[in-house]
Amino acid sequence: MIEYQNYGTQKNWVANKYVDSNSSKFISVLSPYFDKEICTVPDSDSEDLHLAVIEAKNAFPKWSKMNIRDRAEIMFQFKRILEEKMNELAQLIALDNGKTLEDAKGSILRGKEVVEFATSLPSVLKGDSSYVSDGITCTMTHEPLGIVAGITPFNFPAMVPLWMIPLAITSGNCFILKPSEQTPLAALKMAEYLKSAGLPDGVFQVVNGSRGVVEGICDHPDIKAVSFVGSSKIAKTVYTRSTSLGKRALCLGGAKNHMIVVPDADLYSTAKGLLASSMGSAGQRCMAASVAVGVANIDPIIDQLIDEAKTLVLGQDMGTIISKVALDRITGYIDEAEKMGAKILIDGRNVKSPNGYEDGYWLGATILDNVDPDWPCAKEEIFGPVLSIIRTDTLDNAMKIENKNHYGNAAAVFTTSGEVAKSISDLSSAGMVGINIGVPVPREPYSFGGWNESKYGHGDITGESGVRFWTNLKKVTARWPESSEPWKKYF
Ligand code: NAD
Repeated sequence: MIEYQNYGTQKNWVANKYVDSNSSKFISVLSPYFDKEICTVPDSDSEDLHLAVIEAKNAFPKWSKMNIRDRAEIMFQFKRILEEKMNELAQLIALDNGKTLEDAKGSILRGKEVVEFATSLPSVLKGDSSYVSDGITCTMTHEPLGIVAGITPFNFPAMVPLWMIPLAITSGNCFILKPSEQTPLAALKMAEYLKSAGLPDGVFQVVNGSRGVVEGICDHPDIKAVSFVGSSKIAKTVYTRSTSLGKRALCLGGAKNHMIVVPDADLYSTAKGLLASSMGSAGQRCMAASVAVGVANIDPIIDQLIDEAKTLVLGQDMGTIISKVALDRITGYIDEAEKMGAKILIDGRNVKSPNGYEDGYWLGATILDNVDPDWPCAKEEIFGPVLSIIRTDTLDNAMKIENKNHYGNAAAVFTTSGEVAKSISDLSSAGMVGINIGVPVPREPYSFGGWNESKYGHGDITGESGVRFWTNLKKVTARWPESSEPWKKYF
């Protein structure tokens, strides 16, 4: 059960304590379960950001010189606290994001995998050293960048920040997070957990706000790297603005993931896979597959999918949509597809709200059949529980449809043929591919990241690729002249 609670006026988190913002502007945060305000957050200004940067700069010399095993030990403690406080954090995520409690807990567990990986950084960052020539040694070390920042979306209020924070700080940086103004509560709670885990003052700060803080992060001369996750339009803007000023940037964007289904696919597991991928998190995840491309006759699988979809219970299997605006946008796509001639197999519009959450932003699972690849519902990111089915005759055509989409986060194939699986996996234009898996999120330490317009910048956000993003390599080449070794006389 998600309990309504009003958390009042929230503050920023700087140097391990809550601080008032200089700004007089506040943003109202509504719970999508109740359509009621649950808190306000400051729409921080450049002075707020600068204060956070100053505290981070004060902390950096000591933090970056701290033994990496001690930094990793804080991550061990943080992991323990995340486990102990799982219910508390999940409740906050459910309240401001609209996830079910189970979904919220699942997202924390996924984020915790990156914390676990961060505890292994003493091994990952051990560097290298060898004799490279007579009397000459080359030593390579991974050095932190300094003050770095992350900007995160509404849909995973804990998991996405956890893609960034553990790797950035354990590798010696001081971090500033600008969470989504729609879902700020988990970030602030995790700041408290990091303090309890022993993180020194100034290593992690949260500056709440909107566009102004994002632009301030891109422009601030002391911020060396920016990690962004959100829609492609803003990802591209943040990437362009921050790299034009010489910063390192990795900006993950939106998605339109395709699942290719062939008739030899296993009936039950494929139907479940299609449903979980398109409707999980109410379709509000960048790994949701919102297009199923059926090759030849896959009617038995679609029939099974419909049977499964009818069993979904709102509030239990699926949470809410994030906002009224998003709900209108998503239903607009369904209305438009209907007008264009889509066959509506399951209609999630005008569903009955679950008891106790009558004012929530609900939309049921929606499945559209006979969709044309050029319709908006087939091409654009809907970010809701809507699956469009495109019918085609050949695998070649299916691949053309997948390849034509501008995004490239994920793709999946459902088949029992190894040959088909291999060729789809080889030919799909996506960074993460699933074979009989609809949500192919790589488990840590395999890294997370898409291709094409799903990402601006190089490398992935987690795994060793993430660690490389947050560090610079230093190579020291050394030769010690014989004469400079006076101790040799003692041999
Ligand atoms: P969004 O782009 O609207 O917001 C993301 C962040 O950018 C927020 O912190 C927001 O405050 C800020 N922002 C919004 N508008 C801005 C502007 N004009 N200028 C500067 N900053 C601005 O995204 P969202 O709606 O919060 O999240 C959903 C999007 O995130 C979807 O497109 C989804 O696919 C994407 N996403 C991608 C991944 C991935 O790994 N590729 C993961 C999660 C979410």
